[in-house]
Amino acid sequence: MSPHSITAIAILILFAGSFYAVEVAGDYGSGTEPVELVSTVAEQREFDYFALALQWPPTYCSSSTKCCATSGCCRGEDNPSVFTIHGLWPDYNDGTWPSCCSGPAFDANEISTLQSVLDKYWPTLSCSKSSTCHNSKGVFWAHEWEKHGTCAAPVTGDETNYFLTTINLYFKYNVTEVLFEAGYVPSNSEQYPVGGIISAIENAFHTTPQLICLNGALEEVRLCFTKDFKFRDCVGASDCPDYVSLPEADTTRSTGQSLSGHETY
Ligand code: AMP
Repeated sequence: MSPHSITAIAILILFAGSFYAVEVAGDYGSGTEPVELVSTVAEQREFDYFALALQWPPTYCSSSTKCCATSGCCRGEDNPSVFTIHGLWPDYNDGTWPSCCSGPAFDANEISTLQSVLDKYWPTLSCSKSSTCHNSKGVFWAHEWEKHGTCAAPVTGDETNYFLTTINLYFKYNVTEVLFEAGYVPSNSEQYPVGGIISAIENAFHTTPQLICLNGALEEVRLCFTKDFKFRDCVGASDCPDYVSLPEADTTRSTGQSLSGHETY
């Protein structure tokens, strides 16, 4: 399925004259939520590039104390120990990005055939529900589609294609493999030089990633692409110290429950 489809062009035309929100990158990504400005525009401003945001689940999970059946942090032995997908984000060159563009609300049926892949490689790590663009709460995938995917639609197309495009990029550029092969393996005792992690990715993909850290641990690796999916630099600096950890997954963390959907805290 080509991302540059006639459907995408139709969606672009449909979007002209729509309302959309612009976020300002004070603190891009983890931590502080960006300021959200709602703008009314005659024509939707086309975004400039994509950021593929990949998470290191053990770091994300270390910031949450809650366990529930739906959380990918609570699968015990199966707790993820690979980089997983946070999202594919359309961005502007000035450090801001569009969000919550016009488009269909999330429809779980659209991604039902991808469910097992998404569960494994694009897991929901939190117990709390994510905000959607329609003043409600929903699953993490609904948040990513409505906030980012609708704005990427001129290039990636409909919901199914947004998730497919993201998964394809994830498998094509295997950051976990690159880092593990370079010796950056999960450890609760090692500290790794950030320069070495960046070099490993530069050597493999000939692009410089943006790294995001949390309490001295690597939390995210972001790879940036032009709208025809060639590598380009991300806007915004990495925020990591010179040495970082890549913590191991806590395999003792589990709900100890069957997948009933019931939350325990
Ligand atoms: P975004 O708006 O795409 O930057 O996503 C940020 C929001 O999603 C924040 O509320 C995060 O706590 C939440 N979040 C980030 N990663 C995950 C994840 N893997 N599972 C569930 N929620 C997440």
